[in-house]
Amino acid sequence: MMSELHINLSESLKSKPASDALGFGKYFSDHMFIMDYSSEDGWHDARIIPYGPISLDPSAMVLHYGQEVFEGMKAYRTPLGEIAMFRPDMNLKRLNNSCERISIPQVDTEFVLEAIAQLVRIDQEWIPDGEENALYIRPFIIATEAALGVRASKQYMLMVILSPVGAYYPEGIHPVSIYVEEQYVRAVRGGTGEAKTSGNYASGIKAQEIAKTKGFSQVLWLDGKQHKYIEEVGSMNVFFKVNGEILTPALTGSILQGVTRDSVITLLREWGYTVVERVISIEELFEASRQGLLEEAFGTGTAAVISPIGSLSWGDKNTEISGGVTGELSQRLYDSITGIQRGKLADPFNWVYTVK
Ligand SMILES: *Cc1c(COP(=O)(O)O)cnc(C)c1O
Repeated sequence: MMSELHINLSESLKSKPASDALGFGKYFSDHMFIMDYSSEDGWHDARIIPYGPISLDPSAMVLHYGQEVFEGMKAYRTPLGEIAMFRPDMNLKRLNNSCERISIPQVDTEFVLEAIAQLVRIDQEWIPDGEENALYIRPFIIATEAALGVRASKQYMLMVILSPVGAYYPEGIHPVSIYVEEQYVRAVRGGTGEAKTSGNYASGIKAQEIAKTKGFSQVLWLDGKQHKYIEEVGSMNVFFKVNGEILTPALTGSILQGVTRDSVITLLREWGYTVVERVISIEELFEASRQGLLEEAFGTGTAAVISPIGSLSWGDKNTEISGGVTGELSQRLYDSITGIQRGKLADPFNWVYTVK
């Protein structure tokens, strides 16, 4: 059942946006991938069809109880004219891990990767020109059974949509100011922080808005129980360079396992850095900063790749990092990862998947 992929091409292609004004997630390509699930038939009816609205019953369970998971990755055009994706196997494995947590039936990752490759191939004209631009790929699964009642849905829909995106920061990578959130939490151990599921983001919006009002770009999330230990920054994983060593919060169950996080750790170790994954308290970090040992801090994620942190504000304490400019290591990581992703640098870890 899973081996068949039906393709119905659009008869009227849309005009494409200018590649210097893409923004993030504003435009969508001509086609999308859809596959349905029912408890009788499993995953079935895989198809690529023209991009457009879908119809859902108002009682579709996702609309009421949030049974949803998603992923985010990018496709690039290499200097050789090939289409490259970055570690998509990790994204699809994570999709299944998220499914498992939210009681959504898992997918055949090889089949879905092949379907995504086919969709990107069909819409490859949507991979935008321009140094920092890419085609963002958003796979997601929603519970579609028409029924009220809190339980796992018996029907689901997996969709993949494509969006040409610009650099996350149009002015290039630059340090952002971060507000350490002490009241609201993103996730708790035993909760769903480890899954890429919509509820985690809905619950974080309020804190993000408050931080924005106060003039900060993003929030730094502390652990949900004691509000003491550093977890993530916005929807990115977070790293600190303290006295030459690299620290990042250990994956204790409430932190998303970022593909960029894993790539950063691998590269840093390759370069001879000591990377320590452990519990890090905000107090310890401010103390390191007071002693002049906090050398760099940055967030990691597919959208921005590396996002340097220029300052942290925690209660009435404020600390500037790297003199408020992009640190040397942050820049080196950004250049290396984007270079590998775009086929401009050697790929020693076999991270690049070429869409043939
Ligand atoms: C997606 C995401 C990340 C980053 O993961 P990548 O695989 O590196 O893009 C980190 N934290 C949260 C909460 C996320 O949703």
